[in-house]
Amino acid sequence: MTAGRAGLVGDAPVVVVGGGVVGLCTAYYLARAGVQVEVVERRALGSGASRGNAGWVCLSHSTPVPAPGVLRYALRSLGRPDSPLYLRPLPDPAFVRWLWRFWRSSTPAAFRRGYTAIAELNRDTFDLFDALREAGVTTTLTRPGMVHAFLSPAEARHHLAVQREMADGRYPLPDDVTTGDAARLLDDALSPAVRAAYLVEGEGVVDPEAFSRGLGEALAAAGVKVHENAEVIGFRRSAGGSVTGLRTTQGEMRCAAVVVAAGMRSSRLLGELGHPLPLQAGKGYSFSVDLDPAPRHTLYFGERRAVASPIGGTTRIGGTMELSGNNNRLDWRRIVAVALASRHYLGPWFDDPDDLFGLIRDPWVGGRPFLPDGLPVIDRVPGHDNAYAATGHGMLGVTLGPATGHHLAEYLVTGRRPDALAPFGFDRH
Ligand SMILES: Cc1cc2nc3c(=O)[nH]c(=O)nc-3n(C[C@H](O)[C@H](O)[C@H](O)COP(=O)(O)OP(=O)(O)OC[C@H]3O[C@@H](n4cnc5c(N)ncnc54)[C@H](O)[C@@H]3O)c2cc1C
Repeated sequence: MTAGRAGLVGDAPVVVVGGGVVGLCTAYYLARAGVQVEVVERRALGSGASRGNAGWVCLSHSTPVPAPGVLRYALRSLGRPDSPLYLRPLPDPAFVRWLWRFWRSSTPAAFRRGYTAIAELNRDTFDLFDALREAGVTTTLTRPGMVHAFLSPAEARHHLAVQREMADGRYPLPDDVTTGDAARLLDDALSPAVRAAYLVEGEGVVDPEAFSRGLGEALAAAGVKVHENAEVIGFRRSAGGSVTGLRTTQGEMRCAAVVVAAGMRSSRLLGELGHPLPLQAGKGYSFSVDLDPAPRHTLYFGERRAVASPIGGTTRIGGTMELSGNNNRLDWRRIVAVALASRHYLGPWFDDPDDLFGLIRDPWVGGRPFLPDGLPVIDRVPGHDNAYAATGHGMLGVTLGPATGHHLAEYLVTGRRPDALAPFGFDRH
């Protein structure tokens, strides 16, 4: 990336709004390119969806959520809050419009287009993580591989076949699934109920909190000013439409350009710039537990769509996709549902749901920022020469954070949109 100033106005800093993994990565690559950057975060760095997630950095689980058949699956979950994909009908026209567009994005052709776009953006992800580490950033990335575990061999074979078609040779997949008693040998933590499994080698995992912390430390070392507990509440604009400043709860700031990377809350800010995005929270839950034996790989529990990750010396179990409005309410029933789902694959690590109170730590809910076609927007805001957005990363913000930041910084610095960002424009919405 070359340091020009094509997309920047004046000599004030570029201000990144939002200190989640996406905003932090963007600030990092801007600072690396020699741009003066500041970050404004309404709470603490990494305290949003970037905190309690499963930490996967992966190529094999990077499909958009709107997929053929998924809405039918969601509709079957109506009134069943223990379902992995739970839809609570909301009497809100915006939600109905969102669902309609989600459904329209679930065709095989749209799914394939979305998958290919993400796979291209994801192409250099592990190289970018390596470069971050070599530059001294504590990424915590390890690459233990991912075991896909199933209770039914037929389901496993179907999953692998679909995955092979989507992967299109981009990453190695095993020739077949391992079945019967041998399946559980792929990871010591798996129970005898697992009758089929396969390992995708090289898939990675980070401790997401530690990764955000590492990025924050790298920003501090690069002299980037970070304003925590400061919420952006509006913008100042010139007659020509350039953003010249931000209004925050800590006062006003001048800016040469602004990047809105405020996760779920990006829509309101972008609305101030005339382009709100139809973001919905895809709420997911997680908790930590000490298991013996603990999983060594990241685990995907196929039929129940739950996951487990080795993070920080313990096991983080997570899952569910709850479309129940843009809020951060923790529904304990969903924690229980995730724990029960994991028991099919990990064995009876608790007897009664009441035991969970004593066994698990840090129950957490996070709102994945979701656009109805399941793809992020990483683009300049229409009508503004110096306002940009990076949001809507759904299930993939940790995986795609570095690639997003890298390409968006290039866009700001050169004024030319990198080809990899072409599918992630505002024009879709
Ligand atoms: C259960 C679960 C598991 C997941 N597992 C994975 C996984 O394994 N791998 C993966 O890649 N992804 C995973 N995800 C998704 C991932 O967590 C998100 O895609 C990612 O964290 C989004 O990052 P972000 O920076 O866009 O948003 P956030 O992390 O939410 O950051 C946005 C930040 O902006 C701040 N902010 C908002 N409004 C303002 C304002 N007005 N002024 C200033 N600051 C503001 C917020 O406080 C917040 O810190 C998972 C999500 C969940 C819920």
